[in-house]
Amino acid sequence: MHPKEEKTFVLVKPDGVRKGLIGEIITRFERRDMKIVALEMFMPTKDQINDHYPKDEAWIRRVGQKTFGTYEKYGYDPVQEIGTDDDLKAGSMVREWLVDFMTSAPLVRMVVQGIHAVDMVRKIAGETMPYKADMGTIRGDFSNDSPLLANKEQRPVLNILHASETPEEAAHEIKHWFGESEIYDYKRFGVDN
Ligand code: ADP
Repeated sequence: MHPKEEKTFVLVKPDGVRKGLIGEIITRFERRDMKIVALEMFMPTKDQINDHYPKDEAWIRRVGQKTFGTYEKYGYDPVQEIGTDDDLKAGSMVREWLVDFMTSAPLVRMVVQGIHAVDMVRKIAGETMPYKADMGTIRGDFSNDSPLLANKEQRPVLNILHASETPEEAAHEIKHWFGESEIYDYKRFGVDN
């Protein structure tokens, strides 16, 4: 594959759509010489979201650990806060909240192409936890949330968008969300010629 053909998958989440950030998000990718090669607003089903997020134990535990890491840092007791100190249980709760949240409003799905598309888009998006995300990133500029509050309110952390984490994940997600005929090939001025 030519380096300019790397692709990644992005979903603007309900909070991103409802905050009116669709255009802002696309602009930030495009101004960094990334090319939008597929784009659509749609209403997802619970099954589609359930199949989008990983189901393996390691991923679920990692999500739970993010909660416990924040609790530890700020001196909160996990059992008092969410009734468990088991990362698998905490991660499973978050996963269920995610499925409900992601089907609460239309989403925007897109495929973004360019050099190091996966890493570049993650960098533009910023860290998962908005309170940690650097200023200048989408999450750092337009959101402020933490597991401290989200878990108390039994919802996922609101961080505007999803972006694939690895090229393998990107390939899987692009296939899950788009047919091949929906991905376009065109030359961008100043980028491709
Ligand atoms: P990312 O979206 O940055 O790839 P993850 O794949 O780790 O992050 O998690 C998926 C989504 O689940 C996050 O974007 C966030 O909305 C939510 N989330 C992750 N960990 C937690 C947590 N500990 N508490 C609440 N929500 C979480």
